[in-house]
Amino acid sequence: AINDPADKEALLENDRKYVWHHMTPHNDNPMIVASGDGSWVTDVDGNRYLDGMSGLWCVNVGHGRKEIAEAAAQQMMTLAYATMVQAHIPSIELAAKLNAWLEGEYRIFFSNSGSDANEVAFKIARQYFHQKGKPAKHKFISRHRAYHGNSMGALGATGQAQRKLKYEPLGVGFSHVAPPYCYRCPFGQTKDNCSLQCAEAIEQAIAWEGPDSVAGVILEPVITGGGMLVPHEGYLPAVARICEKYDVLLIVDEVICGFGRSGRKFGHHNYGVKPDIVTMAKGLTSAYSPLSATAVSAELYEVFKSGGDTSHFRHVNTFGGNPVSCAVALANLRVLEDEGLIARSAVIGEAFAARLARLREHPNVGDMRIFGSAMGIELVEDRDTKEPAKPERVAAIVAACKSKGLLIGKNGDTVPGFANILTLSPPLSSTDDDVDFIVKTLLEVFSVGSISSKG
Ligand code: PMP
Repeated sequence: AINDPADKEALLENDRKYVWHHMTPHNDNPMIVASGDGSWVTDVDGNRYLDGMSGLWCVNVGHGRKEIAEAAAQQMMTLAYATMVQAHIPSIELAAKLNAWLEGEYRIFFSNSGSDANEVAFKIARQYFHQKGKPAKHKFISRHRAYHGNSMGALGATGQAQRKLKYEPLGVGFSHVAPPYCYRCPFGQTKDNCSLQCAEAIEQAIAWEGPDSVAGVILEPVITGGGMLVPHEGYLPAVARICEKYDVLLIVDEVICGFGRSGRKFGHHNYGVKPDIVTMAKGLTSAYSPLSATAVSAELYEVFKSGGDTSHFRHVNTFGGNPVSCAVALANLRVLEDEGLIARSAVIGEAFAARLARLREHPNVGDMRIFGSAMGIELVEDRDTKEPAKPERVAAIVAACKSKGLLIGKNGDTVPGFANILTLSPPLSSTDDDVDFIVKTLLEVFSVGSISSKG
């Protein structure tokens, strides 16, 4: 039972013996999370933490939502399983709802994870050009620092060396360009003289790869896990124009940016572009049940439909779009709508911007970037040289926050030498008290001398 240290020891013993944790090196003493309520989680010792990352950027409506649990239970009792080979009511309702949210006409293909959704996008893009008599168009361009998933194709699209080494060769046909990273502009520009060379780099890559060989560009509206890289507002529209010019599909990965995180329904709505394909996961169900979706524009879908049997998409997924996950997603979207949580997301981000402004002056803070309610704090050793903060300094801040009851994230060591960006992405349902707690804790942690070598 909770608070029973004897139980905890037994749990830890079995964890040490049997469980293989994701991503983290072997960890003999993980925090064992026992329950969640709103923005807070409680461990087996009874310690409460504000879940400042919403898990892995996903529990957007907060923990312990009865209305979602009830929707799942009800659906399990009505019809727990049907395949997407058939039709079923929750998937029909959800696909229609997603069309309304996307503000465009899209066909929805359901799967289980963000990685799945991106694999589906790549396969659909390639088959689309086959159907159009352009089978050579098979390559994809993405950006360094971006993460698009764990499977061979999605990892191929990922632009983070450390995640890929030891698993290569990955899916082939992916190449990468420099990201829109304004704080350390790869093209040596500043906000004032920016000519969007990062977008031009995509055009150059398409030209140099050969437009007849390129099927798509995949990007997140904002690179999130790779360091909260918020682009110049003209970047995404410029990339959309380039894609159109070369008959290259624009695939937007909304796995993190979607479902309100950006302060709009989808991250690309902030930039006024209309993607050919949108992939989504995490926030689609607020992680109450695994589900992802690949939304494909009606024009693309028509090419698959009009060819009849010979042109159908040969891809099946046993659990994808199962009735329970779809019912959970519908309940989740209802909560987001009924409680006005998309607008709330923007309010949370504005509170961070206003109330954490003085962190910008801290000697170890190089840059703060906010997109909706997601925030990145880039730590440096020296503000003039922008030398990235050492891992010990970053770890000390994460640990200090945790000791005060705030869980925050950091980008991984997936870019060698650049594991220096703190990330925050609290539930969109965070109350004013929750926001106060986050702000107060960060201000306290950053005013502690030990964190700064100079301050
Ligand atoms: N795309 C992005 C932008 C992601 O952040 C992630 C997961 N962090 C994925 C895709 C892959 O999602 P999943 O872990 O559900 O496969």
